[in-house]
Amino acid sequence: MTELFNLTNKIAMVTGGAIGIGKALALGLASHGADLYLPVYDLTGVEEIKKEVEALNRRVFIHVVDLSKPENAIAEVTLCMEKFGRLDILINNAGIIKRSPILEGTNQDWQAVIDINLSAVYYISREASKIMKEQGSGKIINIASMLSFQGGKFVPSYTASKHGVAGLTKAFANELAEFNIQTNAIAPGYIETNNTAPIRADEKRNAEILSRIPANRWGQVTDLVGAAIFLSSGASDYVNGHVLAIDGGWLAR
Ligand code: NAD
Repeated sequence: MTELFNLTNKIAMVTGGAIGIGKALALGLASHGADLYLPVYDLTGVEEIKKEVEALNRRVFIHVVDLSKPENAIAEVTLCMEKFGRLDILINNAGIIKRSPILEGTNQDWQAVIDINLSAVYYISREASKIMKEQGSGKIINIASMLSFQGGKFVPSYTASKHGVAGLTKAFANELAEFNIQTNAIAPGYIETNNTAPIRADEKRNAEILSRIPANRWGQVTDLVGAAIFLSSGASDYVNGHVLAIDGGWLAR
């Protein structure tokens, strides 16, 4: 490991960090020296990730919480400070998707997606920024999407939330760069996780998606880890407000 990417003794909060993309990113940061604070919605994957982080000789604290409630999202940074005494890296990863045509959409689905995918990102980042400003440095990484750039179909709430995440990334970057806090986003392409299981199971949709990906394969969660380490480390100290697509070439098509 070169010094540029060294995260030793950094404290990283990864929301939804026990499964899927969040787990891969959390383990990637731990493998470069970070200790982990993981707010998770339920106990899925918790025992496994605890063992994997301990095998790396790093610390992990897991807190079961519904981050779609503003008061919970706001309290999470305080809890992390009580546990670890600092917060160096925040990865806003927790998110959901609700699929239905606009004409059949419900208010409940719209609100549920906006609450966790967008509002929680704002609340947690706002609170984390206050701590990072006091500390004199910090890294905020938001998990965006191809639908931060494109409209998509049957997922208008998701598209709105992820366009919002790209906007928040730039807004936070503009205001916080002077405090040595870098805010960036990773926009994954089509990655094999629970989130995409329904479209992978739909043969026609799966074939349509695959045929448009120049790399000719679905992404794996491990494809995203290098970028997360880069954006968490000193190697990216002059990178601000960038939304980095990791998509096998999807957007370039
Ligand atoms: P996933 O369903 O495996 O993981 C989602 C995570 O969010 C889980 O850990 C879950 O516990 C957590 N979460 C959901 N609601 C929560 C709540 N109310 N409170 C606390 N935690 C909550 O899916 P994933 O694919 O790993 O998704 C992770 C992120 O990546 C999401 O923001 C998603 O939008 C984004 N993303 C995924 C893809 C993809 O292709 N899989 C593509 C682009 C962006």
